[in-house]
Amino acid sequence: MSKKITTVLGDIPPEELGYTTAHEHVLADITLLGREVMHHKGNIPAEMLELRMENLASLRQGMSIFSDDCSLAGDIDFAVAEFKAFQRIGGRSVVDASPIGLRAPAELLKEAAQRSGIHLVTCTGIYYAAARPDEYIGKDDRFMYEVFKKEIENGIDGTDVKPGFLKCAVNTINKDGSLEKSELDALRAQARLSNETGLSVHVHTGYPMTNEHLYEVVDVALKECGMNPDRLLMMHQDQFLRRGNENHAYLANPETGRNVNTDYLEKILDQGVYVGFDSWGTYVTTLPDDYDRLKGLIAILKKGYGSQIVCGHDCSTKAYGKTAGSYGYTRFPEMLGQLHAFGLSEEVRKLTVENPANLLAY
Ligand SMILES: [Zn+2]
Repeated sequence: MSKKITTVLGDIPPEELGYTTAHEHVLADITLLGREVMHHKGNIPAEMLELRMENLASLRQGMSIFSDDCSLAGDIDFAVAEFKAFQRIGGRSVVDASPIGLRAPAELLKEAAQRSGIHLVTCTGIYYAAARPDEYIGKDDRFMYEVFKKEIENGIDGTDVKPGFLKCAVNTINKDGSLEKSELDALRAQARLSNETGLSVHVHTGYPMTNEHLYEVVDVALKECGMNPDRLLMMHQDQFLRRGNENHAYLANPETGRNVNTDYLEKILDQGVYVGFDSWGTYVTTLPDDYDRLKGLIAILKKGYGSQIVCGHDCSTKAYGKTAGSYGYTRFPEMLGQLHAFGLSEEVRKLTVENPANLLAY
């Protein structure tokens, strides 16, 4: 049987996916995401959280997570405008990496897809431990397996919208330095479902994980759970190209340069999994910037890993939207376009068309 990709409006042949941004948050509700840090909100004057011109710099640096004004939830007009901006640069498909804890009502995703003509692929799954609805807190892998399985078989939230992939998040580190069990349990449940259905598993990672934590996540999926490596996407791997604490060494000594390191990436890529370069156009100064990202990307493309990388912008609030004067989903032409100068022209199509289709097809 030929493979398919499942969008919120039904299945399509993989050839139809086209130019794709592989990690966004369409209509996402970040209320729970901010729960652990929301007590800071009380210290921020409300007028600084309004989506206004003079607030844009700080909102883009991360403050928008506290801002009701910047929430994407429920604003279909905003989502459609972002899709249209993506379509103007040739965009055909958007992958919505928003699982339980973050996602919009499935009916709204459908409406946004219908109104724009974009292929929109969403997921089943769950976000990290602190950003889970109460009824999912402290549940084990068997419980989560049943939740995700039901959505794959029957649709999301009682609708006919089927998930096109599985998403989980591993980035909570316990006091003893170990990875949080409930987050690894979500991965275990999804690995089992991937083995049964062929759906891909996309794993959010992030600060303060070490390289060893990243390797452990890959080991749990591949060695412990027996997942096929080409069904696993390790997201946000571009965020570790240059670690925030290296900024101090850089600033302290005029002789110290600023550079990226791809050793960890090659170790992960050598396992045969996909990695995400999925924060193009973001502004947070403690993270790698777009030129760090591009430098790391060129290095690994030259080493032949071009079939294992997908790209996105991770737009999680309105502050990152094209509508609000940021890049939205439109940073690829300017940044990936520079690959031509390095003899890597053929890689652009892999990154934006072939790899997302291969990853999502099952
Ligand atoms: Zn994300």
